[in-house]
Amino acid sequence: MNTTTKGKLIVISAPSGTGKTSIVKALTQRANNLIVSVSTTTRKARPGEVEGSDYFFVNKSSFETLKKQGEFIEWAKVYGNQYGTSERWIKDKMKTGNNILLEIDWQGAQQIKEKFKSSENLITIFLKPPSLEELHKRLKERGKDSDETIKNRVSLATSDIEHSKEFQHVIINDSFEETLTKIQNIIFS
Ligand code: 5GP
Repeated sequence: MNTTTKGKLIVISAPSGTGKTSIVKALTQRANNLIVSVSTTTRKARPGEVEGSDYFFVNKSSFETLKKQGEFIEWAKVYGNQYGTSERWIKDKMKTGNNILLEIDWQGAQQIKEKFKSSENLITIFLKPPSLEELHKRLKERGKDSDETIKNRVSLATSDIEHSKEFQHVIINDSFEETLTKIQNIIFS
């Protein structure tokens, strides 16, 4: 991968329920020149999700074809569904000086790290919940998942968190505003 691109590539990973989506949304509203990559997924759209804005929703066979065509700079299976990031899109946007934010899991982060090995343009951030008890509470309050799913997500979070040491920055998402400020400082320092 050509790493002489102008923009920064920012990877943010976090266990489900850590508050990553709200943080990313606030970041893009506050920071100019920061765009979030739209991934392709085999997951079914949730109510309210918009094609091309939240994800590009495809079936398994289309995903396989895109994979074979080398369309993805990284891809991974997460919670039973496949997700991938378009290499062409990332390259084009970075060339024009945009900062790109990837909201991907740790498996994808490992692949991006490998491809951008010697690049100063890559920033990796892992968001941690204050505790597993707090994560359980937040998932319950969100009210979107069954008790069984919540139990699974908390257990998966435990293994996700083990990978936090592979990231340059680890932030505990205790206070929304403080987390936002910390990330802004990392990206724009
Ligand atoms: P959700 O289905 O809840 O939107 O996302 C589930 C998980 O998949 C999250 O951890 C999210 O960061 C991850 N994810 C979303 N898009 C991608 C992608 O393109 N690549 C990888 N590796 N993970 C992704």
